[in-house]
Amino acid sequence: MKLLNQEQIESLSKFKSENFLTTSFYLDSDKGRLTKKEISLSLKNLLRNAKSRLDLMDLSKEKRGSLRKDLDKVSKFCSQQLSSFSFSGLAIFSCSSEDFWQVFSLPNSPRNRVIFDKDPYVRLLSSILDEYHRIFVLTFDRREAKWYDVSMGEISLIESIVGDVPSKVKEGGWKGYESKRIERHIATLLREYFKKVAKKTFELSKKNHFDWLFLGCKEEYNSEFEPLLHPYLKNRLIGRVKANPGTSPDRILKETLGLEKKLKTQEEDELVNRFISELEKGGRAISGLKNTVRKLNQGEAQIILITRNFSVPGRICPKCHSLYVDELRCPSCRRKTDPVVDIIDEAVELAMDKNCQVKHITPPSRLNRYGKIGAFLWYKT
Ligand SMILES: [Zn+2]
Repeated sequence: MKLLNQEQIESLSKFKSENFLTTSFYLDSDKGRLTKKEISLSLKNLLRNAKSRLDLMDLSKEKRGSLRKDLDKVSKFCSQQLSSFSFSGLAIFSCSSEDFWQVFSLPNSPRNRVIFDKDPYVRLLSSILDEYHRIFVLTFDRREAKWYDVSMGEISLIESIVGDVPSKVKEGGWKGYESKRIERHIATLLREYFKKVAKKTFELSKKNHFDWLFLGCKEEYNSEFEPLLHPYLKNRLIGRVKANPGTSPDRILKETLGLEKKLKTQEEDELVNRFISELEKGGRAISGLKNTVRKLNQGEAQIILITRNFSVPGRICPKCHSLYVDELRCPSCRRKTDPVVDIIDEAVELAMDKNCQVKHITPPSRLNRYGKIGAFLWYKT
């Protein structure tokens, strides 16, 4: 199934097995960026690494057998489906001994991972979901109004109404006075229609929760229409698309996604700039991998900023789950630390456990000059 909403993630996360572990499998399958050969090579490596990890795990025969079966099923699924798979990412959750099997197609690429855990590892799904905004697109002219829902890279028509406000006074037969009267009448009709559209937009927004509102209409309508919007909507109206009710949904989707990307980049830039100015004035921020990980371990990080695809091996304490860049022994509990393939990924997980937000920054950004990673802190250090 396609990853579309939080409910799917919540329902997936409810699965738990008393006696067996669950395999969570994530694969970057973006054919726009990777060749088929590269994808199948990383799949092979991923499964091979998972198998050798599995061999080293201290597990009962039954548990190990179930996980092995998961990997075999994943491998079989990929060899049958991957060549025709058209999504940027694939996620599979399996617990063979409980007959549990769920496949998700993802709108963008996850980090390649196989996780064996007590329950499905849903955090990568939720981080992908977080990257998308649910956008409401309203397009209207005098004749009609249409509302679209754009989410997870797809568009659907929610509602449409017909206005049919005449555009001008019909020629012939009218004296000047009469024309004026009709013009005023038409202006009133148009205003009533705009009010109706604004009201409908608010009603629909209550039923369909969304983050942003984009508007597609003639520029001359803006000044009259916008003040009619409910304040809730005014706050969310942050974009304009070149569209009218006759524009094809495909075209509207393209315009919307283009604008969403631009606005997301702006959001990221603003965040990084805010971070750097906080850092430079010696405020509540810290930069670099070691510092960030330390603050995260201590529960002092409020938001961590990480550069997308920035990945570094590191170490984790098996007892207290603290992360370290290179400590062989955990300084707080003296246990020998275990190596991890990607400390950033572990940091994302730890952040969620510690109620710390994670923001993904697309490179190149100014964050590069600060070690590609940093954090806003709860308190000044
Ligand atoms: Zn420890």
